[in-house]
Amino acid sequence: MKTLQDKIALVTGGTSGIGRATAIAYARAGAKVVVSGRREKEGKETVALIEKAGGTATFVRADVANDADVKNLVAATLRAHGRLDIAFNNAGIESAVVKPTAEQDDADFDRVFAINVKGVYLSLKHEIPAMLRGGGGVIVNTSSVAGLIGMPGAGPYVASKHAVIGLTKNAALEYAKQGIRVNAVAPAAIETPMFDRFTESVPRDLLASLHPIGRVGKPEEIADAVVWLSSPQASFVTGQTIAVDGGFTAQ
Ligand code: NAP
Repeated sequence: MKTLQDKIALVTGGTSGIGRATAIAYARAGAKVVVSGRREKEGKETVALIEKAGGTATFVRADVANDADVKNLVAATLRAHGRLDIAFNNAGIESAVVKPTAEQDDADFDRVFAINVKGVYLSLKHEIPAMLRGGGGVIVNTSSVAGLIGMPGAGPYVASKHAVIGLTKNAALEYAKQGIRVNAVAPAAIETPMFDRFTESVPRDLLASLHPIGRVGKPEEIADAVVWLSSPQASFVTGQTIAVDGGFTAQ
């Protein structure tokens, strides 16, 4: 028996990086996966990777910043599978602007908050009632080490990832007695397309050296933590943020 056998799992930001790796890991653990994101071609690639490995997945397009899209995503999951057991609210973007607070760009701040904060809020808002209908569930949100400490020049992103931890704690407290656990992961630098964009301006070796373990992480290393948090093995864990960061925040 696999740890997530026949569970129905939803992954936002499943079209690349950490979300894709986690969708694949969920399927490997026995879950039927609904992969979501804005890009259909990449979403279908994730589905194909899961199916090639013998798993079950479908793609539903959704922009997490759009209430109607998120509502439709959860409704489509319920239509296809009749229930929602697990949600990985992982969709997120980096700031386009790296500048001190007083020089930040208002439009960039709004864009980052619309996706990283409101996107997680809207996901919780629609997922929780669906889970309550099924008697409970498990949610994991993607924060960041930037949700635990400050990072000069990245104010909007840092604030957005701190907010994800706030939403995580609150939902965990509100729904603990109704059988829903809510946790977050806080990755350090992980080799994904987002990381590739970041390393256009910051050398990879410098980033690696900032991690006590001496390297950056792989998406699969976040996926392993998310699968564990989503599994019965983490049944007494809720309201927590687990740093998966090669020791970054221990410094
Ligand atoms: P990525 O490869 O760029 O993936 C980002 C994902 O988010 C994509 O699947 C993208 O899908 C989705 N997304 C972005 N905006 C969206 C929107 N409005 N609606 C729906 N989906 C949206 O980057 P990643 O590194 O895997 O990032 C995943 C998460 O990890 C993010 O929350 C990020 O902040 C966090 N994180 C990353 C690192 C790192 O070093 N890589 C470190 C800490 C935290 P579409 O473009 O198809 O919509």
